[in-house]
Amino acid sequence: MHELSLAQNIIEIITGELLENGLTKVDTITLKIGEMAQVLPDSLRFGFECLIRETPLEGVKLIIEIVPAKGRCMSCGKNFIIENREFICPECGKAGIEVLTGKELEIVELEGT
Ligand SMILES: [Zn+2]
Repeated sequence: MHELSLAQNIIEIITGELLENGLTKVDTITLKIGEMAQVLPDSLRFGFECLIRETPLEGVKLIIEIVPAKGRCMSCGKNFIIENREFICPECGKAGIEVLTGKELEIVELEGT
């Protein structure tokens, strides 16, 4: 049910933006979701589409961009893609990774008229 409350939050943000910017209609929303954000994009989309049914937001297109998880080794400084949630440096084999990207959860774009 985590995704459903998230969808609810997104709808509240969009509604606020509409009022603030004097928009009457939103066409497209683009979301950025990190691979490690603990959000299932399909569930989020499903929840979103259920919640906007028969509201002024019905028909809004939701675009979800997945951000790959990247980390940097705190021992040797190498940047790499974190695969399978393995927090071990492929270069020197040490644990101790700073996560650079992959935890994002944000609205990057909102197009409307
Ligand atoms: Zn390393």
